[in-house]
Amino acid sequence: MKVPSKKRGKTNTNGAGELYVVSTPIGNMEDITLRALDTLRRVGVIACEDTRRIRKLLSHYKIHGKELISYYRGVEEGKSSRLLRLLEQGQDIALVSDAGTPGVADPGLVLIRQARDLSLPVRVVPGPCAALAALTASALPADNFLFLGFLPRNKKTRRAFLSPLRWEKRTLAFYEAPHRLGASLADIAAAFGRRRMAIARELTKLNEEVLWGRAYELAEKLRSHKIRGEVTIILEGYAETPWEVKGSWSGYSLAAHLEKVMQEEDLSLSRAVEKIEQLRDVPKEVLYKIAKESGLEGKRK
Ligand code: SAM
Repeated sequence: MKVPSKKRGKTNTNGAGELYVVSTPIGNMEDITLRALDTLRRVGVIACEDTRRIRKLLSHYKIHGKELISYYRGVEEGKSSRLLRLLEQGQDIALVSDAGTPGVADPGLVLIRQARDLSLPVRVVPGPCAALAALTASALPADNFLFLGFLPRNKKTRRAFLSPLRWEKRTLAFYEAPHRLGASLADIAAAFGRRRMAIARELTKLNEEVLWGRAYELAEKLRSHKIRGEVTIILEGYAETPWEVKGSWSGYSLAAHLEKVMQEEDLSLSRAVEKIEQLRDVPKEVLYKIAKESGLEGKRK
């Protein structure tokens, strides 16, 4: 298909076209901004992952006559040079992915980086992103969060990846493929136990649901009851004092709490550690370290 010439004057001075990074719906076709639609109508070329997916969106909004250039993982380097040449020739280009925001666990980085390196104008047309939508729906703090993309596929690698995250205070967000969900949840439960978790499924679609509970509860629930569709996992960050016990234990440091439990309930250090691990969601290693520093270790039976 012939590339249509630009119809509007350029905002940049060197005559190059502009690269628009456009977010598209993650399910519901209506979740697209007016500016995204205007951009898709205006550009001559759309770089996209699966041409069938974007065609569906374009035809829904009666946008026709665009040149679609497929741009997916594996061809990013090769396709970028063609797209950069078009930009240099003055062609405006929209970059989209199959769903959500390009570059977020999706292709986009190579083209955006190369356009920046060549001082070509890059503009963002923000919109849906599954991680942000899931965080918003999760009932977990989103002031400060850590998005980690897809979890490693290999069990051993995944466990090694999750283990140090037990100490991470920020809310964690992961993408996961539905067929790996069960195995990943088992590993999440092993590492995070009682931590609160939201599994956001099929957001903005007909079967949208958010499963909410403790990591071990949801892992158990989904072991027997498989779920389908796209999922994003949101996990509570590490907190020395979780909300439900904050009030009752706020006066006690961990050392004082350990000592109190050992004395008043006549528990060994290991039993006291187990109890406080459950109550306050503090990893055992931390409690033993504190016990050692506070001279409580000698009392261990
Ligand atoms: N770039 C996209 C974005 O901004 O959301 C993410 C692309 S990534 C290849 C696809 C993953 O996003 C899925 O495997 C799933 O984890 C998550 N996802 C996409 N759509 C979703 C939805 N409607 N509900 C929940 N999670 C979704």
